[in-house]
Amino acid sequence: MRFDIISANTKILECSLFHGMISRAVKKGLIEIYIHNLRDYAEGKYKQIDDIPYGGGSGMILKPEPVFKCVSKLKEKTCYDEVIYFSPQGEKLTQKTVNDTSLLGNLILICGHYKGIDERIIAKLVTKEVSIGDYVLSCGDIPAYVFIDSVTRVIPGALGDGESAITDTFQVETGFDHPQYTRPEVYKRLRVPKVLLSGNHREIKIWREKKALSKYKKYLKNNKN
Ligand code: SAH
Repeated sequence: MRFDIISANTKILECSLFHGMISRAVKKGLIEIYIHNLRDYAEGKYKQIDDIPYGGGSGMILKPEPVFKCVSKLKEKTCYDEVIYFSPQGEKLTQKTVNDTSLLGNLILICGHYKGIDERIIAKLVTKEVSIGDYVLSCGDIPAYVFIDSVTRVIPGALGDGESAITDTFQVETGFDHPQYTRPEVYKRLRVPKVLLSGNHREIKIWREKKALSKYKKYLKNNKN
């Protein structure tokens, strides 16, 4: 799977993407990541990538020309399944979208900044707008990171233990992963539940399902609109 990220602030991505699980997936050849600096596609002496909004108002808007230029250059060499723009107005990212996306091949990811991007980019280039939640961030680079991490995680082979991703919260029938404990057996006078030390796999499975379900019910109650 290949991600081409178009960004006005590539440092955020350079600092965050090439560590841990994502960098291991790159090394294993499961994913490829290319970061494209919008400024490299800007014209004129000042390499301007943004400008003030028509009609007035606050903030700066990413200009269309550099984004169009970058996308068309990428499309000369590669076919893309989607051109995604990260936006608080987009379709909310869920585990289902993440799972479906992991089956795709090549993606262009456009990160906005400041007040947003020229609407003509969305009209002509973008095939899907993706939001990572109902709140507003100052740029699309962190959403791009969240997106790539969540998608890569479910690609077979990306995690050390192949079981991990499919037993996670939102992947399992109970809705939530069960509570986890590790050594020591007693910490600050808090004991690991006895059943987990029993070696009785049937009992452990029942206990885990019960606990996961009760946490999931609480989550549903707290997240009711
Ligand atoms: N004026 C816009 C917000 C711009 S925020 C509005 O009110 O809708 C600047 C950039 O941050 C956006 O272009 C987008 O790329 C990114 N961004 C902010 N919040 C986001 C979210 N919840 N999900 C995905 N991207 C987001």
